[in-house]
Amino acid sequence: MDGGWTGRFLYIDLERQRARVFRTPEPLCKGFIGGRGFGVALLKDFIELDPFDPQMPLIFSAGPLVGAPVPTAGRGSLVSRSPLTGTVFDCSVGGRFATELKRANYDMLVIQGKGKRPLWIEIKDSDVTFHDATELQGLTTDEVSQRLGQSGSLMCIGPAGENLVRYASVLFDGHYAAGRGGLGAVMGAKRLKAVTVRGTGKVKISSSEKLQKARDDIMRLLRASPVVFGEFGLSQFGTAALVDLVHARRIEPTANFRRSYFEGSSSYSGYRIKEVFDAKKTGCAGCPILCKKKTKQGRALPEFETVSHFGALNENSDLQGIVK
Ligand code: SF4
Repeated sequence: MDGGWTGRFLYIDLERQRARVFRTPEPLCKGFIGGRGFGVALLKDFIELDPFDPQMPLIFSAGPLVGAPVPTAGRGSLVSRSPLTGTVFDCSVGGRFATELKRANYDMLVIQGKGKRPLWIEIKDSDVTFHDATELQGLTTDEVSQRLGQSGSLMCIGPAGENLVRYASVLFDGHYAAGRGGLGAVMGAKRLKAVTVRGTGKVKISSSEKLQKARDDIMRLLRASPVVFGEFGLSQFGTAALVDLVHARRIEPTANFRRSYFEGSSSYSGYRIKEVFDAKKTGCAGCPILCKKKTKQGRALPEFETVSHFGALNENSDLQGIVK
């Protein structure tokens, strides 16, 4: 297997509480590359199952660039069948989970079955431990993060996922949401509250020289982009920097999509959020842009879509209310 892929994936059977390692099929790597491609290709044989059927797989997959020193490559894909739309669904997810999974020497995590009791899973390199999650039932994702966040990168659900709400999210590292399609409910149907992963290995690289050249090219282009690294760009003000951009172009969804311009949007712009909350930069593993924002206390601050939809879409310019 070339660099990038580990050539292995971790299969979890929740009903038997068994973990097995399989080879990542080479045709899958060549034909579908990774991330979304792996997940969707594997889901093909199960797509007619009900999303809450225990045999419906929940797949977290990472592409070949994850874990390598490539800008913005620290993301993974969570894939299953959506209980909301009934279609194949993949969520692109940030944070550290994909990188830790690759460092633990896996390209993918494939979860099937349903726990006989609520479970959470701890993965440390080749060690996989199944824990009773009865005491975690009913906890919010923030509360689970406080309890399990030290065990590694964390994906977890809150009460919405447990109760099979069809638009429930899966939250990663307390900040990054697999936020569409209700894959949190698929996880809840499996009685799986959380998964943590920690890896100590390194990702194989075929040619460090070629990779460095590609990285230099990407960084040069990113640095030339005013939207990314400019004075008022994403790196400085987070994705909420886009509030001013769409406002200036009069393309902000307003009043439930009836208009495209909202007078009050400067009250929740990226600039304003940074000023009011003294916001700090954060972001996905290995990313030089770091387009997320958090408070000094480490609490996640909302991104563009959240502020724009709780703001202009609802004709609301109350920043504190939006953040709350
Ligand atoms: S921090 Fe932002 S720019 Fe960097 S990989 Fe994550 S989402 Fe993309």
